[in-house]
Amino acid sequence: MASSAHSRGSLRTERQVPTARGNGGGNPPARSRSSSAKRSLRVSSDDDKNSGRVRVAVRVRPKTTEENDLDFTDCVELQPELRRLKLKKNNWSSESYRFDEVFTESASQRRVYEAVAKPVVESVLDGYNGTVMAYGQTGTGKTYTVGRLGKDDPSERGIMVRALEDIFANISPGSDIMAISYLQLYLETIQDLLAPEKTNIPVVEDPKTGEVSLPGSAIVQIKDLNQFLELLQVGEANRHAANTKLNTESSRSHAVLLVHINRSLEGKKENDASSLANVTNSELSSHHLPHLLKSKLLIVDLAGSERIDKSGIEGHMIEETKFINLSLTSLGKCINALAENSPYIPTRESKLTRLLRDSFGGTARTSLIVTVGPSARYYSETASTIMFGQRAMKVVNAVKLKEEVDYESLCRKLEYHVDYLTSETDRQQKLRENEKEQLEKKLQEKEAFLVETEKKFSVKYEHLEKERNHLVLETQSLLKALNIQKSEKDKLSQEVGHLEISLKQAKEQELENLNYQKVLAETTQMYEKKIAQLIKQQEDESSRCADLEEQLSGMRNYLSGNKKSVQVQEKEIDELKREILKLNEDAASTIQSLRARNNELSLEKELLNGELKTLKDKLLYEERKRRCLEDEIIILKNALNDDNAEYESKRPYKGDITTRSTLSLGGPANIPKSNRSRETISGQKDTISKIFEEGKTVNVDLHLDIENFLIHHLAVLTRDSYAQQYVNQERIVEEGGLDTLLLLLESSEDANIHRVTAGAIANLAMNSSNQGLIMGKGGARLLANIASKTEDPQTLRMIAGAIANLCGNEKLHVTLKKDGGLKALLGMVRCGHSDVIAQVARGFANFAKCESRVFVIVCSKGHRKGRSLLIEDGVLNWMATSSATFSASTRRHIELAFCHLAQNEDNTLEIIRSGGIKELIRISRESSREDTRNLAKKALDSNPAFSTEIHAI
Ligand code: ADP
Ligand code: MG
Repeated sequence: MASSAHSRGSLRTERQVPTARGNGGGNPPARSRSSSAKRSLRVSSDDDKNSGRVRVAVRVRPKTTEENDLDFTDCVELQPELRRLKLKKNNWSSESYRFDEVFTESASQRRVYEAVAKPVVESVLDGYNGTVMAYGQTGTGKTYTVGRLGKDDPSERGIMVRALEDIFANISPGSDIMAISYLQLYLETIQDLLAPEKTNIPVVEDPKTGEVSLPGSAIVQIKDLNQFLELLQVGEANRHAANTKLNTESSRSHAVLLVHINRSLEGKKENDASSLANVTNSELSSHHLPHLLKSKLLIVDLAGSERIDKSGIEGHMIEETKFINLSLTSLGKCINALAENSPYIPTRESKLTRLLRDSFGGTARTSLIVTVGPSARYYSETASTIMFGQRAMKVVNAVKLKEEVDYESLCRKLEYHVDYLTSETDRQQKLRENEKEQLEKKLQEKEAFLVETEKKFSVKYEHLEKERNHLVLETQSLLKALNIQKSEKDKLSQEVGHLEISLKQAKEQELENLNYQKVLAETTQMYEKKIAQLIKQQEDESSRCADLEEQLSGMRNYLSGNKKSVQVQEKEIDELKREILKLNEDAASTIQSLRARNNELSLEKELLNGELKTLKDKLLYEERKRRCLEDEIIILKNALNDDNAEYESKRPYKGDITTRSTLSLGGPANIPKSNRSRETISGQKDTISKIFEEGKTVNVDLHLDIENFLIHHLAVLTRDSYAQQYVNQERIVEEGGLDTLLLLLESSEDANIHRVTAGAIANLAMNSSNQGLIMGKGGARLLANIASKTEDPQTLRMIAGAIANLCGNEKLHVTLKKDGGLKALLGMVRCGHSDVIAQVARGFANFAKCESRVFVIVCSKGHRKGRSLLIEDGVLNWMATSSATFSASTRRHIELAFCHLAQNEDNTLEIIRSGGIKELIRISRESSREDTRNLAKKALDSNPAFSTEIHAI
């Protein structure tokens, strides 16, 4: 039954798998099935899955009926989720132990296998050695866990059967070899359970590799699971079981199943003949040496761990017990020593420890399952079992892979290769010989053919020679004929030459004709195109003519319409001309009358000048007289105190003067008009004479009286001049009257003086030459100043009259505006007095009329004048809004002024803005004066901006 597998020569190499101790190593060989996830005997988080530490699980057996009946309390409590087992010494004392896995009573055989043994089995399939071992008190389920066959119920199968199942599923039946040995260790004797006659099998250790072997033991190659089950059953039957009190089935022996696995890494190639045929010498080099993975799986069902005295062994059994305990005790010692990292491990003390040399502290991957009973009755056994397990957990193996070069298969391969090559050479040689024979045959045939061909050739040669001679003769005769033909040909070619020349000429002629025709055709085409264009042009022209005729007829109609309007306009022009002629005539007659008036006035002026001169003479005389009197006054003053009573009697004279003086200054209304002036002047002269004559009564206020006199005098003078229609004005101004008036206006605070002086200036301002002087001497500013101070309507009327007169001189317009004349004029409206407002309106009418006149002149020269000066001072606004509220005469002035402003296009915008359009329309319809109405219409008609504005309204 012994297999040859084990006896094959092999060279072993070792590879170490990394372990917790860090013993270096390589990677496990790749397998088709990756089962690292399933491998765990639930590895604790701090442990690497490849760690070589001995994995320890604890399994609790279910209570037996006896235990249930006797109601023993449990000394074990499991915490599977924590992987802990709590060992209760009594009700108040307990210890907790952690394991790699904890199985309760209900744990299935399958789960136990997968957690405890499967990782080891997989490791073994990868080429590592592995050990699965059950330890525990007799009757706690070691054999149940490890060796159960489960023939009737496969779910009952123990680790041994399941491990073999797994191995069969994963090895290649052709290339891999699997063999088992089944042994029993009892009383330090090893017995082969498969061949029970073999007893006392030694445990031999290879001094080089340290590998343990059991020479003489049967190693049976297994082909399928059934064969294994049968063998196991045989082994079981042979197992020596000692009866104990505890359990008759319990064994006192250790049962060891040894599974040998040889796996070829190139298994598939080995059996493939065609691939073997392709193996070359280079492939047989060291790189391609076939490797063999050799591994061993040990499954051990230990004897009960309980102490002997409890088992009640009798008779010859007492001898046994020494040895029974030797192996287990020795195992315990070794594990203690390994757990404590002791330098000495007593491996050699027992056969069991020697057998398990690789399993603890060696290179194998090892899992231990410790089984315990739940009952408190076995507390001490249970406790010692648990402590054994705890110590075993501390043992770390240096897991190593062992590979061997498979020289046997290499040799087989090489033999096959040599055979293949030899037969191949034979075959090739045979082929070559056949080929040679065939070639020689072919050569002979070819040579015979050659001789034949030569003969044929010589006969043919003779025949050809004859033919050649005949041909030479024929050629000669042909040459002669050829020469004759040649001479004929020369002649012909000459003729041809002539013909060609004539042909060429004819061709040229034809070409010319063609070109000419082409040109003709093109020209014709061009003319046709031109004719078409001309026809089109003519059509366009005729249509345009028709359009133009239409336009012409339209224009004719339009012109005839225009002609009519021109005729109407001409008629209007004629009428206007007639009107102008009439106006000219009127103007001429007015000028004539004015001239006559002027002559009269100049005569008056001369008269007044004469009078003034006599008065001046008189004044000079009076001045001299006054000085004499002043001297007298000084003399008289000295005698004043002495003659007081006499002084009192003279007082009524002074009062009289004052009264008269005041009366005379009563304003223009109180002053007698007409030719009584000269009498008044002489009367006043008399009064002054009287004052001077009665020099005794004159005091320091005398000069004031003189001033009053002068004022009065001037007022009279000017009024007089007014009455005399400007005759004396020139003289008054010449003699400094205007200066005096302006001085008074400036210096005096007296309202009367203001009124009189303003009246006088108003009169003077009627004369255009005086107007310049008044303005030049700042008269307008002075008048404006007084106007702003006074509320007296008479004074305001005088001032308004004066400024209104000045407004009639366009040369003074700018200065007048600058000196505040226009503002003052408008300001005077506030008094509400109709006479004052009438003067104001007259002033603006004068101003606008002059502007309009100048505007006409400027426009005729093609310039623009710019907008009216009245606009800036707000006059336009006032006129546009207030004309309707005043008296008829005032209204006329305002309307006139407004119409004149409307004639200037530069004022258009302001007129529209001030709402003046409505006013213009009103004037054009309602004004009492026809010329004003016409002016308004003219402005409205001629100004397009007004027309659009009217439409908008
Ligand atoms: P040991 O081999 O440790 O002496 P056994 O395997 O012979 O113990 O088991 C003793 C008895 O207990 C046997 O009848 C067995 O069937 C039973 N037994 C042990 N473990 C279990 C278990 N986990 N489930 C059911 N029965 C068990
Ligand atoms: Mg047993």
